[in-house]
Amino acid sequence: MRGLMMDTPLLISSIIDHGATVYADREIVSQTVEGPIHRYTYAHARARSKQLANALASLGVHAGDRIATIAWNGHRHFEIYYAVSGMGAICHTLNPRLHPVQLDYIVNHAEDSYIFTDLTFVPLLEAIADKLTSVQGVVVMTDRANMPDTSLSNALCYEELIDNHSDEFAWPQFDENTASSLCYTSGTTGNPKGVLYSHRSTVLHSYGLALPDSMQLGEGHCVLPIVPMFHANAWGIPYAAPMTGVKLVMPGPRLDGASLTRLMTDEDVTMTAGVPSVFLGLLNHLEETNTRVPSLERVVIGGAAASQSMITAFEQKLGVEVRHAWGMTEMSPLGTVSVLKPDMRDAPEADRYEVQGKQGRPVFGVEMKIVDDDAKLLPHDGKAFGDLSVRGPWVCSGYYRMDHSPAHDADGWFATGDVATIDESWYMQITDRKKDLIKSGGEWISSVELENLASGHPEIAQAAVIAVPHEKWDERPLLIAVPKENASPTKETIQEYLAGLVPKWWVPDDVVFVDSLPLGATGKVLKTKLREQYASPHSGTPPKE
Ligand code: AMP
Repeated sequence: MRGLMMDTPLLISSIIDHGATVYADREIVSQTVEGPIHRYTYAHARARSKQLANALASLGVHAGDRIATIAWNGHRHFEIYYAVSGMGAICHTLNPRLHPVQLDYIVNHAEDSYIFTDLTFVPLLEAIADKLTSVQGVVVMTDRANMPDTSLSNALCYEELIDNHSDEFAWPQFDENTASSLCYTSGTTGNPKGVLYSHRSTVLHSYGLALPDSMQLGEGHCVLPIVPMFHANAWGIPYAAPMTGVKLVMPGPRLDGASLTRLMTDEDVTMTAGVPSVFLGLLNHLEETNTRVPSLERVVIGGAAASQSMITAFEQKLGVEVRHAWGMTEMSPLGTVSVLKPDMRDAPEADRYEVQGKQGRPVFGVEMKIVDDDAKLLPHDGKAFGDLSVRGPWVCSGYYRMDHSPAHDADGWFATGDVATIDESWYMQITDRKKDLIKSGGEWISSVELENLASGHPEIAQAAVIAVPHEKWDERPLLIAVPKENASPTKETIQEYLAGLVPKWWVPDDVVFVDSLPLGATGKVLKTKLREQYASPHSGTPPKE
């Protein structure tokens, strides 16, 4: 027997309609690329999204067409999210930090018909323009006064484009499983793969994001997503914001510690979210200038492991709660969040930080399991580690225009490529990316754990551990570390420090000190680059992938 409930489709347009009516006066504040701060309301944002939807229709854009963006977090990018998906087309976010060769591959693979670009990325598009086979026009996200001289043929000005159009637009109603947006993974091997989100997955993911033990969003909050809108849709925050009535603050291109501190202080930001490398910059700035952001209550750190030292710096020095989260582009991206269970809140400090260092428990909507090499389920004892697989309504079921996905099995599970433990209370902890685990003398060493412990050394700012080939043990760990300013740690002091924390055979044979670590397109340490650089000289053998 079917239930007697309305079959209202879950559409992205309904989110902005809700925000523009129920939270009509709630603000979106943006640091623009041009310089000034821009400020308006959800009601105004919807009106401009509708103007843009009319403009796109006049350009001949139809449902299902791919419309790309290459832009920072800002109000115009927000409008494009809603206009494009709202009219039934697909919003394809491009990551400007990718190599130009990957960018033109992605645009051609997606067959994008228009690209919306911030002023910053006009030169980038000019450089690859002659390789883009499907693009009919480029819209520069600025006003007439700031339009650049460009070699791009058919460059349109955003403000002029929408100016001539009405803000009346009836969002079409369609099947909630219709594709809404597209984001390519920044895979380190092979071609990038397209993850195609649907309206349904996006709306359900937004509910998941808003839950109390997830990101806990609501009208009382003011959220600044540092995570870019080109990285897994800024973790879904631009969708969950009008759904829940949070004030949204967009940092534009200014992601340095000083700019973020200023914007967060001026706008009374209560929560922010991003990868550890940006928080490192923020923490350094706050420490150097001996400042705090008085309104800041919580940070969500994900995308790479948050070290214990980062968690304690936020909590002890700044009184800011850390929520460690894990996910993937393929998962919209939210998978797990680490929030202490009520009976853990009074536990000794060390025990609490250990739990917060884990990647957390699954949000409703995400099922997860760990399995061994024979696909046998592993126990939840916090010790057994194996391949982490997930499934759920906001996990991808395949890749865009790829007939076969080796990561999906017959029962619909998606193999994440991460290796993890799960404990009795369902707290999951990432041990490593499968390809980053170190196998020494037949035993596994977790690079993530070594990195975490090494960054806890008082003289180390950032650490990465990679495997280097070894004649006797197959692989041994090498620690590559960035010392803190004015500190001069030695290999011996670091090795001694680690020897007190891990089994003797885990201690890296060598420590290399560098000024900075190479970061990839989503702000994570590029281990492939480190392997290229450091794996071969130590052994004389070519770097391993
Ligand atoms: P992306 O799709 O670029 O967001 O990358 C997803 C991958 O980032 C995951 O499969 C993990 O390997 C890694 N990742 C994300 N969050 C965390 C975290 N909190 N701790 C460790 N690794 C993480």
